[in-house]
Amino acid sequence: MNVIDGNLLCSEDLPDIEALLRASIIGNENKTDDERFEENLYKTRAKGKLPYGVVVLIDKDKHEFYDSPAQSDRAIYGIGVAAGLVILRHTHKESVRHECGHMVGLAHHDPKKPGCIMNWECSTTVFCDECKRKIEKMW
Ligand SMILES: [Zn+2]
Ligand SMILES: [Zn+2]
Repeated sequence: MNVIDGNLLCSEDLPDIEALLRASIIGNENKTDDERFEENLYKTRAKGKLPYGVVVLIDKDKHEFYDSPAQSDRAIYGIGVAAGLVILRHTHKESVRHECGHMVGLAHHDPKKPGCIMNWECSTTVFCDECKRKIEKMW
């Protein structure tokens, strides 16, 4: 595993992030269990570490997401949770913006809303007015 740190101000935190990633890999298959990563992130934060939003970019050629039986939708491009965690396999604008939407608390539209990035398949780059309002409300 080759982990590169993009956080210039907190580079001493890199071993903690490496440990989270290593602990989230299932068996020898290089499948990343994002739920395990998230659980361990909470444990790390309980010790006062990594108190900020964490964005991890994993090598899409080497890592897939583990498909746990409890998960209904299989993550392909990335995952994002409101507790401040994004793990990305792909960096196209749609998936980055979609997962960052989850990171700030947006959920998928159910039923789908035409033309919004927060549909499950994230096939556009734009947020609908409802999602924009939710984001603006936070500020
Ligand atoms: Zn999503
Ligand atoms: Zn929307």
